[in-house]
Amino acid sequence: MSAVVAIDGPAGSGKSSVARALADALGYSFLDTGAMYRAVTVEALARGLDPHDGAALGELAGSLELVLTPRVLVNGRDVEDELRSEAVNAAVSLVAAHRAVRAAMVERQREWAARQPVGTVAEGRDTATVVFPHAALKVFLTASLEERQRRRGDESAASVARRDAVDTSREASPLRPAPEACVVDTTGVAVDDVVKEIVACLATRTSS
Ligand code: C5P
Repeated sequence: MSAVVAIDGPAGSGKSSVARALADALGYSFLDTGAMYRAVTVEALARGLDPHDGAALGELAGSLELVLTPRVLVNGRDVEDELRSEAVNAAVSLVAAHRAVRAAMVERQREWAARQPVGTVAEGRDTATVVFPHAALKVFLTASLEERQRRRGDESAASVARRDAVDTSREASPLRPAPEACVVDTTGVAVDDVVKEIVACLATRTSS
């Protein structure tokens, strides 16, 4: 498999911006696993499925056709502009908590990374702990709650706090730092400086 850098962390910790910038710096592909859970949620809501119905959602997650780039398509339909709607923000953590949904997504994420020509920077909440346990580097980003809520300007503070609570307390793959992760606090730190810190960490890990 090509090289993987896995970046975990809560909402607003800077995962997306940092992962994109790091992927650019390394010439790697960028995998936004949150967008995958959001895409399943968009389709589930469109079909009127109950976000608590793990069996139906697991079947949906395993069977739908998902394209990630250049825009997110579900069964050929462009859902990119719906991924961050309020309805999706409210339901996505419930959908993502089901084991069957996670199993289907994890398989797709591993397949996707295996197809990339150089390497992958994967971001999400379980990419370092579950999806890519052999990642060349594992990173856990943190930031103060105030800063995280500010970064998620389009999502209410209550919604961010609710997703954090569900994501960290769920039984299946809860959000937590991998023991060997390089932990970076991004509060007040520019994206480029976070990337520099990660590249330095990558250099120490690969040289030891
Ligand atoms: O990263 P983003 O905020 O887009 O993720 C949306 C939601 O998807 C998270 O709140 C979480 O419930 C779920 N998710 C997950 N595992 C991942 C990525 C996202 O459970 N690897």
